[in-house]
Amino acid sequence: MIETQINEIKELLSTPQNIVIVPHKNPDGDAMGSTLGLYHYLKKYNHDATVVAPNDYPDFLKWLPGDDTVKVYESDIETCDALITKADLLFTLDFNAFHRTGEMASILENSEAIKIMIDHHQQPDDYATYTYSDVSMSSTCEMVYNFIEMLNDTDKIDTDIASCLYTGIMTDTGSFRFPSTTSRTHEVVSQLMRKGASNAQIHNNVFDTNSYSRLQLLGRAMQNLKVIPELQTTYITLSQEELDQFNFKKGDTEGFVNYGLSLKGIIFAAIFIENKQDNIIKISLRSKGSFSVNQFSRTHFNGGGHDNAAGGRSETSLEETVEKFISILPQYKDELSATQKGQ
Ligand code: 5GP
Ligand code: MN
Repeated sequence: MIETQINEIKELLSTPQNIVIVPHKNPDGDAMGSTLGLYHYLKKYNHDATVVAPNDYPDFLKWLPGDDTVKVYESDIETCDALITKADLLFTLDFNAFHRTGEMASILENSEAIKIMIDHHQQPDDYATYTYSDVSMSSTCEMVYNFIEMLNDTDKIDTDIASCLYTGIMTDTGSFRFPSTTSRTHEVVSQLMRKGASNAQIHNNVFDTNSYSRLQLLGRAMQNLKVIPELQTTYITLSQEELDQFNFKKGDTEGFVNYGLSLKGIIFAAIFIENKQDNIIKISLRSKGSFSVNQFSRTHFNGGGHDNAAGGRSETSLEETVEKFISILPQYKDELSATQKGQ
């Protein structure tokens, strides 16, 4: 962001405003951490700020400071529409195209509020008055830290803000192991720890609250794992029946796809999860090295994301979706057999 834009935003924020902060649908740790981190920051200036999430998010994020203030669009459309309609300022975080907010897309698009995008996904749409987009960033949480720093306000970061931002950096970097983690990321994390973020506690809150049924579901997912060694690819399927059998709750399948990618020699991993309620197959894709799952998902599965982590969907059956996936793979034979793991 250039200095004149920062100065304009500073000016905008110098008097109390009605502000709505929006993460993407099916919010993850980075989406909720960044929106709530920014929420706590804005509250310090007496803004009337609210995080409006398109739909509910997993229990492992429900401990985040400010969680009780979050409004969920899907469960209270009237209140959320009113908040959006009266908003002077709209922050859109961790996504860059309105369709990523599902049912909220049209009211956001038609809102006359000044819009500020903070995001690290590829190919941003051009809807915001102020766009802070950087695909090299580990996480939107790291960008919110930068944003506060650009406003010369890191002194305002307290334990609540630090805990929220730490959470999203930790989840989006796979606990600091993905290549998007830079020395700068660690510097930011160091500052957040100084401000009171408790690394062990946050890790525990997010990752060590498994239910027995989730571990059983993971077991089933691992039994369903298929390997295509010549293309250095794995995929997992989970049918609605299997999810029901193991008492599936939102967030339970988070991270499963990474097990497929952890297999020796594998550079591309997919998981296909049936959702009978929405009548779709939700797809998560992960890669190592230069094979872009963002591009793959955009081309074949109506999705997108980052080079090494993307999502998408299919409106055909689980079996047909997997068949399509397998039939597409040979087109990428050169990339999938040439790229070396970790490069
Ligand atoms: P996940 O597989 O964890 O749902 O998502 C991986 C990454 O891709 C995340 O950064 C997420 O925001 C993005 N993503 C997931 N689903 C979609 C989608 O349908 N469209 C786009 N553009 N991005 C997605
Ligand atoms: Mn993110």
